[in-house]
Amino acid sequence: MADYEAIKKELEGIAIEDNPALVKQKSRDFYWYSPILKGELENVTGDLIVSPTSEEEVIRTLKVAFSHGVPVTARGTGTGNYGQAMPLSGGIVLSLAGMNKVKEIHPGRVITEPGVICSDLDKQTRAHSGQELRFHPSTNQTATIGGFVAGGSGGVGSIHWGGLRDLGNIIRLRVVTMEAEPRVLELTGRDLQKVSHAYGTNGIITEVEMPLAPAYDWVDVLVGHDDFMDSVRFADALAHENGILIKELAPISAPVPHLYFTRHKPWIREGQSVTVVVVAPFAMDAFEAFCRTAKAEIVFRSDKVESMKGIPHAYELAWNHTTLRALKVDPNFTYLQVQYASPNHVEKVGKMVEMFGDEVLGHLEFIRFNGEIQCAGLPLVRFTTKERLEEIMRLHEENGCPIFNPHRYTLEEGGMKQTDQVQLAFKKETDPMGLLNPGKMIAWENPDFDFKSGQNYLFPGLEALG
Ligand code: FAD
Repeated sequence: MADYEAIKKELEGIAIEDNPALVKQKSRDFYWYSPILKGELENVTGDLIVSPTSEEEVIRTLKVAFSHGVPVTARGTGTGNYGQAMPLSGGIVLSLAGMNKVKEIHPGRVITEPGVICSDLDKQTRAHSGQELRFHPSTNQTATIGGFVAGGSGGVGSIHWGGLRDLGNIIRLRVVTMEAEPRVLELTGRDLQKVSHAYGTNGIITEVEMPLAPAYDWVDVLVGHDDFMDSVRFADALAHENGILIKELAPISAPVPHLYFTRHKPWIREGQSVTVVVVAPFAMDAFEAFCRTAKAEIVFRSDKVESMKGIPHAYELAWNHTTLRALKVDPNFTYLQVQYASPNHVEKVGKMVEMFGDEVLGHLEFIRFNGEIQCAGLPLVRFTTKERLEEIMRLHEENGCPIFNPHRYTLEEGGMKQTDQVQLAFKKETDPMGLLNPGKMIAWENPDFDFKSGQNYLFPGLEALG
């Protein structure tokens, strides 16, 4: 057991919390979306929460932790879904939420501390010069930008811009290493991919530079269909329209919208599947014309309701908010993360809908992926047993629909981030003692780990990228 009294003394002047109940609370994330992770991680807790407010305090904390051999797990606001921010080996939970100053705003880019909440960042860039993040997670109002970069993948805006995996969607990161004398690294270009979606296993991000896009007063729209596959075909056709500017496009199968989108329920008929669309205000005429031709029914639009008071943003019906809304009403749901690759993504969705019926309810996010339109799926699964869940995943994979397994807490098994010798060498350089978020990178824990599993990864290995 580390000498936490000595550590506290050495960290004097930096905010520290050691009340076990509060420490436990800040040692969690949204791991409980998975009944598997819920069982595995329920008792995980750190020993101390340390909340630096500057890069200098981060450096001091890492130095002290290193000298005591104490693990450090970074935390934004703990909205991740895979136990990413949960300290499997205890130790210090480094809360970055207090490092929330937006430093500079320029045409097309912003430089900020990592702890700013995404929507607060947007508020400031909008007020400054009518700009906003290219895309944000649906946890816009609660998640930090640093947590998004280190633990997220994409979100609202990915229909236009792709995801964090794409070159150009992060400009620069400042990262502090975990060594006897922590160093500050500035990463750009391909090097960014060492740290993005790496769960803070190879450095603490202290500054983020992100690209911006023009901000609009986006209009929230719900389009209804009686058959989910009609929603999917509608969304696919809309995604392929060249000129209609949209920020979000997500078909969601009945009965989810009517049963679980409680605030929007008055506008949604029982049995109706709904496509969530977020449209630029100047594109609404074109969008309406498109809907008329497609014989699609607009059931809700935020610019026509009397008051939006109490009605959430449409993006809070999408991404993992769809899962959240269903879980709130029926805790027996869980979810999957599926890739339906183009060009025959619609056909693949149809096959899965037919195969699983009511047991797996369709929820798709149309995104730009490698320059093409395809869909990522976050279908809702009526959970029965672990074995059946695994069978459902296997059947998806056997039918050409790769799974990014949200029921695993390691980078590799989650299937998003491919580790390889380059990634491993970077970790050896930045965290030689393996003290950053231990237990999350199998390649580090198991020297015999086979990198070439043939698995499909969202964030590909660095060797292949050159
Ligand atoms: P945390 O959960 O606190 O941390 C995430 C990871 O980053 C952890 O591994 C942590 O150790 C690491 N980390 C945090 N800060 C730093 C830092 N400064 N330096 C190094 N490592 C750090 N994700 C998406 O990508 N898109 C979505 O649309 C989306 N929707 C969601 C909807 C719901 C309802 C929920 C519950 C989750 C959703 N997520 C989504 C997952 C999550 O909300 C996002 O990835 C979010 O951006 C994480 O931010 P956070 O501040 O909560 O990070």
